[in-house]
Amino acid sequence: MVRCCVINCLSHNEKNKKISLFTLPKNPNIRKEWINVLSEVNGKDILSTSRVCELHFNPWDISRTYSCWSSTSSKTTLESTETAETKEV
Ligand SMILES: [Zn+2]
Repeated sequence: MVRCCVINCLSHNEKNKKISLFTLPKNPNIRKEWINVLSEVNGKDILSTSRVCELHFNPWDISRTYSCWSSTSSKTTLESTETAETKEV
C-alpha cells in the first residue's frame, strides 16, 4: 500500500477519504528541494520513490495532469512534473 511519506501525516488516519499522492518531481533541482524539505520534516532521509499526499499542498498549487494528450497537438507542453493519482483505499 502506498502511503504519504510525511511523518504523522493526517492521511494515515483518513482511511475513507480519497487522497491524491504525488511522486517527487522529475526535475532534479525541484526534486532536491522536495527531498531537503521532506528529510527535514521527517528527521531522516526519504527515499526517491517516496510520495507526498495532497494535504501538504495548497489546492491551487496542485496541477493535476493526466497522461492523455495528443502528441500531434501543438500545445503539448506539460509544465508540471508532478503526477497525481487517486488512491482507492
Ligand atoms: Zn501526507
